[in-house]
Amino acid sequence: MFAYTAVVAPLAGVPFILHADLDAFYASVEQLLDPQLRGRPIAVGGGVVLAASYEAKRYGVQGGMSGVRARQLCPGLTFVHGHFSEYQRLADEVMAVFADFTPAVQRISIDEAFLDVSGSIHLFGPPPAIAQQLRARVREQVGLPVSVGVARTKSLAKIASQVAKPDGMVLIDPEHEREFLDPLPVGLIWGIGPVTRQQLADRGIHTIGQLADSPWHPLATAPTDDTRRVRANPRAGSVGAQSAFGRRFPTDELLTSVLGHLADRVAGRLRAKQRAGRTVTVRVRFASMRAVTRSRTTADPIATNLTLTEMALALVRQALADASPTHVDEHQISLLAISVSKLVDQPALQLQLLGPNTDSARWAVDHSLDAVRQRFGRAAVGYAGVALSPMRSVPDEFRELAEHEL
Ligand SMILES: [Mg+2]
Repeated sequence: MFAYTAVVAPLAGVPFILHADLDAFYASVEQLLDPQLRGRPIAVGGGVVLAASYEAKRYGVQGGMSGVRARQLCPGLTFVHGHFSEYQRLADEVMAVFADFTPAVQRISIDEAFLDVSGSIHLFGPPPAIAQQLRARVREQVGLPVSVGVARTKSLAKIASQVAKPDGMVLIDPEHEREFLDPLPVGLIWGIGPVTRQQLADRGIHTIGQLADSPWHPLATAPTDDTRRVRANPRAGSVGAQSAFGRRFPTDELLTSVLGHLADRVAGRLRAKQRAGRTVTVRVRFASMRAVTRSRTTADPIATNLTLTEMALALVRQALADASPTHVDEHQISLLAISVSKLVDQPALQLQLLGPNTDSARWAVDHSLDAVRQRFGRAAVGYAGVALSPMRSVPDEFRELAEHEL
């Protein structure tokens, strides 16, 4: 356990953010459910490692690795099936513990959250003491290890929690942020993935300090928007796209083609940002210019093309039922739009883990699609429904009037 200690008299007016992140969450839950797995190297998954316990990580086993490779690295590795509903239930219990310390909890994925504890100091003591109480309560009540980072901003708190792992607490003293950050690897900055990390390494930049002294300022590459404020869930923001196409009869062919195209764009952008959303909204504009909106909120966040297409199609059909049968201009439509809101940060692995089987297969397909497009361009590949439809011959007819995101 890494301990970075500093004397912190709570600084008046300085916000304190905690980033609490469960350690090797899926694997820890499996070890909690089956005591025989405790202390042993285990991996959730089979053909692919979805998550590894710390005992397995020590051998170099990582999420996303093939099962064959993992077994080579760690011959004693035990593979277990995931208990996905238990993950959700236990993570929800952990979030309920967090909420006992402050109402300002922003959950950013199944097993991690930001907490603004600036207003809780009079109740629970200075922020590092709050972090330790929180860790102890999660351990006692739920039985899971959680690491906590404490800092002035969300980005810094997230770096601190990564340094704290496993099962630790790290505080970044607001007065000594640079000294703390400079020697750390750039990959700890939220938003710097393997590709960016490699690009920086090619330029001789490995640490946050080197990045800070380079033309690529560190905090310009990290998501700095609103890094201080913890937004209580649900988060604001949406991703959407719309197509206007002149007057058309809403045939099945038109609807599946246009909605497939829009869903592809919206879901692709969500995945690129490692986000997913729970509310899907469609807008249908009749030739009369009257517009109708329908939306639906689901339990599981969505970021796959086909699931979004299916939901949008069902919603558009509901909206079409609203057309006036006697108004001739409502027999035809001129615009369709899809937007997804109630967004959550959703790293790909978690999406894959959480979705029902069909959704994880869909996610895998989308992911390959994204990878091919990244290399060969958007037009290189698409779903049959989008790529092979009669609308394919007139793609310019899809006039992207607006694409918005907040
Ligand atoms: Mg975690």
